[in-house]
Amino acid sequence: MTCPTCNQSADFQGYRPLKPLSILGPIALQRAYYYCHRCGGTVPWDEQVGLTPKRLTPAAEELTTLAGTLSNSFGEGAERVLTKLAAMKLSESTVQRTSEAAGHRLGELLKKKKVLGGPKPWRWHKDARGMTCAYVSLDATGVPQQGPGGISAPGRMPYVAMVFNPVPDLPEGSPYEPGPKATMQSRYLAGLYDLEELGVQLRRQAGQVGMNQAEQWIGLTDGGNGLENFLRVNFPRDLVLILDFWHASEYLSDLAKVLHPVEEESRKALLALWCHTMKHKGGAAIVSELEGLPLPPRKPSLKAQHETTLNYLRNNLHRMDYPTYEANGWCIGSGSVESACKTVVNQRLKLAGMRWGEDGTDEVCHLRALFRSESSQWDAFWNLA
Ligand SMILES: [Zn+2]
Repeated sequence: MTCPTCNQSADFQGYRPLKPLSILGPIALQRAYYYCHRCGGTVPWDEQVGLTPKRLTPAAEELTTLAGTLSNSFGEGAERVLTKLAAMKLSESTVQRTSEAAGHRLGELLKKKKVLGGPKPWRWHKDARGMTCAYVSLDATGVPQQGPGGISAPGRMPYVAMVFNPVPDLPEGSPYEPGPKATMQSRYLAGLYDLEELGVQLRRQAGQVGMNQAEQWIGLTDGGNGLENFLRVNFPRDLVLILDFWHASEYLSDLAKVLHPVEEESRKALLALWCHTMKHKGGAAIVSELEGLPLPPRKPSLKAQHETTLNYLRNNLHRMDYPTYEANGWCIGSGSVESACKTVVNQRLKLAGMRWGEDGTDEVCHLRALFRSESSQWDAFWNLA
């Protein structure tokens, strides 16, 4: 054969045995071995059929990555999941390395402006006014880190970005009801991105699902640093910005906790009342209600939390017109955005006692985002191999 490295001739040296691991267990086989006098020995078959460095077949690699991505830990994936799904016995570290390598490959593909599959325009659901709506959101979540050799390291914040088509909550009898079979569609991106790169990639995903064809664009974020601006810059077409309701209610909850540290019932009742006011009367109403709250003297922690909550709400008043959003049948994020962070990142990377390396954080985030997106995305990635 021609040596793939130097293009000189490489001589056939005979057949060499190998036992790659397939999903049906190890397979004993022989494949041709060639020798180039400049570059050394080569077995082109291994690469052509797509064996991993650990000699897994492509299907075994996909299954291993799936187990590593979805199980609670790489160890659980190795010992309890893979052994049941397939005739594969792998060590925890092989499951980890295989998964992380796949996540790395996915991250590189996305960075190289590759898309998985062709354009796939969604049928955007209509709001109460009959306008089709497309949603984007961005959030960040802290992941505990550990440096090389187990030394402690400061936590990192992966971003979770999302373009989505939620099923709207329309008034009874609305002619724009999407039908009983309608489901939410979403594409996620997650990882240790800088915002500029994430913007490029999220716009590409939005293009793939035909966001341009939706009449109304809606952006949901928390009040976190730079998040709102990210959406303004990347999706400038008449974007309506909404402060994610769930995050806003967290600030109310923090205040209710300081007011009623012990009496859980009173705290819950107060929080429900405030949330109701915020949802049905809007941001200004809840701010004025909190401003009029009688604060007992000599309680500095209460005063501090009162100020924190009020400042947060005041800073976001321009996107807290919840009564209007609700009347339009828009999603105000009492679920979807928080659940993106939770389902994509937290449920795998923030389990009790977990510490991650920087690369592993990024790579597993990519895989989780891919898996949580439409199922065709996961398939498209694995069909590239
Ligand atoms: Zn050579």
